[in-house]
Order: sequence, then C-alpha cells, then structure tokens
Amino acid sequence: MPDGDREGNAGSAGLRSPGSSERVPLARKAKPTSVERIKQASDHLRGTLREALLDEAPGLSEDDRRIVKFHGIYQQENRDERAAHRASGEGRKAEFMVRLKLPAGQLTAAQYLAMDALADEVVYDRSLRITTRQNFQLHGVLKGELKRTIQRVDEVLLSTLCGCGDVERNVVAPPAPIAHDGHRLLHALAFELAEAMAPATNAYREIWLDGERIDSTREHEALYGEGYLPRKFKTGLALPEDDSAEVYDQDVGLIGIVERGELRGANVLVGGGSGMTHRKRETYARLGTPLGFVERANLVETVKTIARIYRDFGDRTDRRHARLKYVVEEWGIDAFRAEFQQRVAFPLEPWVETAPLVRRDWLGANPQGDGRWLYGIWIESGRIVDGPQRRWKTALREIVAAMQPTVALTPQQNLIVAGLAVEQIPEVEAILDRHGLPRPDRLDPVRRSMLACPALPTCGLALTEAERVADAITADFEALLRRLALDDVPFSLRITGCPNGCARPYDADVGIVGRKPGHYDVYVGGGLGGNRLGELHAESLPQSRLAAHLEPLLRGFSESRRPEEGLGDYYDRVVRGPGRRDILSGAKGDAAEPGTGGVGATPGAGGRA
Ligand code: SF4
Repeated sequence: MPDGDREGNAGSAGLRSPGSSERVPLARKAKPTSVERIKQASDHLRGTLREALLDEAPGLSEDDRRIVKFHGIYQQENRDERAAHRASGEGRKAEFMVRLKLPAGQLTAAQYLAMDALADEVVYDRSLRITTRQNFQLHGVLKGELKRTIQRVDEVLLSTLCGCGDVERNVVAPPAPIAHDGHRLLHALAFELAEAMAPATNAYREIWLDGERIDSTREHEALYGEGYLPRKFKTGLALPEDDSAEVYDQDVGLIGIVERGELRGANVLVGGGSGMTHRKRETYARLGTPLGFVERANLVETVKTIARIYRDFGDRTDRRHARLKYVVEEWGIDAFRAEFQQRVAFPLEPWVETAPLVRRDWLGANPQGDGRWLYGIWIESGRIVDGPQRRWKTALREIVAAMQPTVALTPQQNLIVAGLAVEQIPEVEAILDRHGLPRPDRLDPVRRSMLACPALPTCGLALTEAERVADAITADFEALLRRLALDDVPFSLRITGCPNGCARPYDADVGIVGRKPGHYDVYVGGGLGGNRLGELHAESLPQSRLAAHLEPLLRGFSESRRPEEGLGDYYDRVVRGPGRRDILSGAKGDAAEPGTGGVGATPGAGGRA
C-alpha cells in the first residue's frame, strides 16, 4: 500500500486525529527529563532496589520507583482509600502492580494454575487481570510480598522483566494456538523478538532471585545504551486474516506474509500509538505508517534498527512527546525510511498487497486444524475474579485443572483454552454455566467486544472510572441498540479512564475517554481494520448521557446503513465524508447532517479547547 493511503497519517487527507484538529510539532526543550538522569545512573537497572527491599518503608524512593518499572512493577496506591489515609495522617499508602511479560499471551496449564494460586496469596481481591497486551497484572501487592511474587513467577519459567519501562514491552500477536502455519510462525517470531530485545543486565536475577552479583561494568547495553529508550516501545504481529493484536496501533507492526508454509517476511508499519494528553495538541493518537516489506531473516534486525532510531532521535526532554510516532510524523516517512535504510545492509522492499486485515476474537468453540478444539472464554474487562454472580476465577481454575489445556491471553482481554477434544466443549460450557458465566454466543456484539482499562482505583493517571463503570455504560448501549433494532450488528465500544488509550478507544466504533470525574469525551468512527481513527464527537459528557447523546446518530445508522456496514464505516461515509472534515471543529458545525449529532449540533457539548 502506498504511504498516505491510510487515513489519519502524515500527509493524508487531513482528518483530525483524536484530540487535535491539526498536528503541531513540538519545539524540544533544552534539558532532558529527570528520568533520563535516573536511568543513566541506575547501574543497568539496579538502582538501590536490593537495599530498598530490606528496609521497613512501605514504598520506594522516587529513583527506585522509576527503575522498578523495568522489572515489571509499578508503585501505586488505592485511590479509593487516599482520603482516609490522609485523614488518618498515614499519607499515601504504597502498593504495587506486578505485570508479567507473556509473548503472544501463551501459557501452559501449570503456569496458569501457578498464577491463579499466586493471586490468591498476594492480590488484595485475589484477581488476575488480563491486559490488552496479553499480559497478566497482579494488583495491590505489598512491598514485602514483591520478592516472593517474582520468585513464584520465575519458578514456572515466566518473567516480569520489561513488563513496563522504557524498553520493548510485551510482543503481542494473534493468540490462538492453532495448527495454522501463520499462527505457529508468528508465535515463534514473538518469542525470538522478546529475547532479542531484552536488556543486557543481570539486575533482575540479582535483586529478585538472589542471583550472584556480577561486575556490572562487564555488562554492555549494546541495543538500548545507558539511557534505554526515551519511553516505551511496542511491537505487534498480525496476519491479514488475523489482526487480533491491532498492528496499526503499535510502534512497530509486522503483518506476516506466509507462502507455502513459510513466513516469507512481513509488511512493516512504524509510528502507531494511542496515547495523548487532553488539551495538548502536540500529542495525538496515530496509526502506523507503511515502511515496506522485509524478509523473514531480517525481521529481528528491522525491529532493533527502528528501536535504535527511536533511541537516538526520540524526545528525551518531554515524556508526553517521547514516543516513536512523533519522530515518524515530524520527519515524514521518507526521511524515516532513508535513516532506516542507511543503517541496514538489506533492502526495504515494496509493500506486499494483501487482503484487508480481519479482526478475530476467537470466542466460543473453534477448530484448531489438527483435530483438536479451542474455546475462547469471554472475561469482562479481563478481570478474572469471583463475584457474587459470576465466578471467573473458580470456573477457569476448574477448566484448566481438569483439562490441562494450553492457555492463551488475547489482546481483547479474553482467555483461550486450547488442545481440547471435541467432547470437552460441552464440559467447558457446563462449567461456565455452573459459575454464572455467559457463553460468548449469548452476548450482544457490543458487550462481546467491549474493552475497558483498569483506571480507578489503582491507576495513578486515571481521571475517572473505566472498568468499574463499563458494565453500566455497556448496558445503556445494549438497551439503545436493541430499541433501534441494531442489537445484532457488530459494534465496538472501548472505555478508558484517561486519554492514554490503554484500551485503544480511538480505533473503535465508539470510544469513551475519561475527561474528569464522571465525565467522558466521546469518539466515533474508528475502524478496527486499522484504516481509520475515530474523531471527537462530544466533550465531557456525564456518564448517564453517553448512550443518549449518540441516539440521533444511531437512529440515522439504523435507518440508512448499507448491508454489512458498521457504525464506523457509516460515520465515515455519511458524517465525515467529503466536505465534512471540519464538522467537529465548530467551524462547520452546521454542516452536520440532521440527526448525526456532531459536536457542532449537540446542545451542551463544549467547544474545543
Ligand atoms: Fe490508566 Fe489511562 Fe491507561 Fe486507563 S488509559 S489504565 S486510566 S493510563
């Protein structure tokens, strides 16, 4: 595909990216951020963590808080309890989130059961949370439990190293462990990349696993250098027939081209990413830009080279502007490609035309292609926990213990059990029924595809709720869609507690993005095929008005949608079509088609900042 054919990219037809009517290059500041000093002085990610684990303090120093992220650990606090802690004079009460790093979300049954048991011991509500990057997160772990937690993870040959931090994060990929060549080959590539992109330090073994302390001056951080990357770096893998990982939203996206059972190579995308900041027009969500095709033998070197360019040219003076996407956007893809080409000894080949990318959720029973079956289990917001009505934790433990399947976590925050005999499918469903869990085929499309980030009470960046109000918001949309006879139409809804976009809201038909307590911005018109970002439709609506606000638009959609047309495509055709690109700036607010309900036509919706 030629550059610029993807809407929402540099040089495209001028669509607004989320939160920004135009992209504003940022003049860099003179001084690196304090985090740069901390990384440089960390002695290859050691900091003073070994000593800190021995003291009585419930939390870590500012410097160690930065470094411990590279070990997959965030210091947080339970924000529900903040006021009470302050009132009692205790101040902030530190607790920790521990994030595993699971390439392509793959686990054995024994590893799953070990994590299930670990959550019972160290997590405040015993939950395991599946992230949109196919990881497990353990929330509310106390400092005194951190070392035991990491050791238990290590005992089953898993790791938290680089679950967070300014390095390559978890490599995401189509999760289904099926016999199909493409999936098998991409899983191998995901593990190869994870190993190749790991930092060259023994710190993790020394601090958490009582490994022998080595002379760190012998360590050579050839890939990252002493300052590591300016910020996080995310790689996703896809096949044209399975873009579960949403590669246009990644710093690097690789779309595998499989021929005669071999991975011939991949189309490479650079510069995607969801994060942005309200009212900062120099920050924006962005879709990856096609760089070219690279043969299989050169794919690992390709990702490393892109990371090196980012290492050398990413903004280290402002962490909000420190992502690879701003380098790609501000240089332009031609300059980025030239820099890439001069660093490698192989040619970038022309982009290989493929069929449009297809999203798969793998829910329910699916044949694996080898005579066995997999079953995708829907998990609300990825939270594996026992509630009064729905007991995900107990049900999954029963299924995994009894059937010993392969387990995979999906980028849609669900869980696959694989390698089942066909007779085991009814057994899986009987266990789901017994524990009050909905079978996927009984869910409305909007609930089946809904994603929500954790937000409050644990995320320090959350401006408002997401996961804890996701059920209520989804119920409002379900009721409205049923009333409009749209309840069997595919409909993607994603909810986040701030604009950082951990649940990828700007790719969805409707994205709900936290603005302030109880209030949300509404984005409409994203394309899950990676072709389009949604755009801002309303600002700072109270939670109770989110679905109602979209009723005029959805009524028009119900009355005049084309066969098979989803809301995002309808919105793009009818509302955002030629001549309507400025509809949301207010400048052409009266251009809104009656009943479409854009910002310019919405009583009470604020103007843009
Ligand atoms: Fe936290 Fe924002 Fe990410 Fe949600 S989107 S988890 S609130 S940073």
